[in-house]
Amino acid sequence: MVKLDAMENPYSLPADVRIAIARKLENVALNRYPDADARELKERVRSAMAVPSGMDIVLGNGSDELIQMLALTLARPQAVMLGFEPSFVMFGLIADVVGMRFVGVPLQADFTVDLDATLTAIAQHEPALIFIAYPNNPSGNLFDRSVLTRILEAAPGVVVLDEAYHAFAGASFMPQLADYPNLVVMRTVSKLGLAGLRLGVLAGRRTWLEHVDKVRLPYNINVLSQIAASEVLRHGDMLGSQAAGIRSERGRLASALRSMRSVESYTSDANFILFRVADADHVFTALKQRRVLIKNLHGTHRLLAGCLRVTVGTPDENDQFLSALAAVI
Ligand SMILES: *Cc1c(COP(=O)(O)O)cnc(C)c1O
Repeated sequence: MVKLDAMENPYSLPADVRIAIARKLENVALNRYPDADARELKERVRSAMAVPSGMDIVLGNGSDELIQMLALTLARPQAVMLGFEPSFVMFGLIADVVGMRFVGVPLQADFTVDLDATLTAIAQHEPALIFIAYPNNPSGNLFDRSVLTRILEAAPGVVVLDEAYHAFAGASFMPQLADYPNLVVMRTVSKLGLAGLRLGVLAGRRTWLEHVDKVRLPYNINVLSQIAASEVLRHGDMLGSQAAGIRSERGRLASALRSMRSVESYTSDANFILFRVADADHVFTALKQRRVLIKNLHGTHRLLAGCLRVTVGTPDENDQFLSALAAVI
């Protein structure tokens, strides 16, 4: 299969980096518990992700675990988690699991934020926690910064900017952490090329993160992940140039989709593109029969009627996807 459904980086690590990881892992003491605070890895993360000095870091077993930890920290009867719809489905699923009430504010038809509706929902529900994916998944767009600033100023609780696609976006709220007392920023190495490692990063003020750290299980980042991630993050330039290659392929894929008459596609600041066709179920199944797997979003939300989402792959994978799409549409 050409696998373009899960926003994975299509490139493996260069041989020298894989060998360096193997050498380190060879000597790991698997009989011992890992460093519960993952201090060495946190220092690497701090410099690789430019976490401002004075801000704390909590690591998660993927950012999914950080979403769960944030929710567990703030969950109590009647507490509300607010998010946009459509956005990352884990926000709402985790709210349900921890017993928070999820309030979803619909995005507008072009997937921008409806600021008036959001401010009204904030005033009405006083959310303890707001999750904003920046860029948004599944639409791929970055929300307007001044709109997000208004939300940060209006929110009575914690606002999480989920920057899972930061490597492809060139925009971040990490430098703004000091400006907003209720802001925390979440990152992950998954979309960067290390989805199998399971490592998420939460950065923010100690006043928030010390409480999040209380619900963290002591050894949530296993020793193999700690060592391997520390090693890979020493080669941040290599991951950065892979991301740059994916961004330029995104441009090529986007213009090819724009040139197809029966396809309506959306601008993306991430490593995937959302597009709309007349019969998404048919196109999805016909692509799968041609051994190209993408994501079918038709039927998941009214704004996503007819929508499919393709992850940017290698030039060859993208060509296979484009010719299969042209054949089935
Ligand atoms: C993929 C994704 C994540 C999950 O990342 P993991 O670190 O792999 O758990 C989080 N947020 C958004 C918006 C995503 O698309």
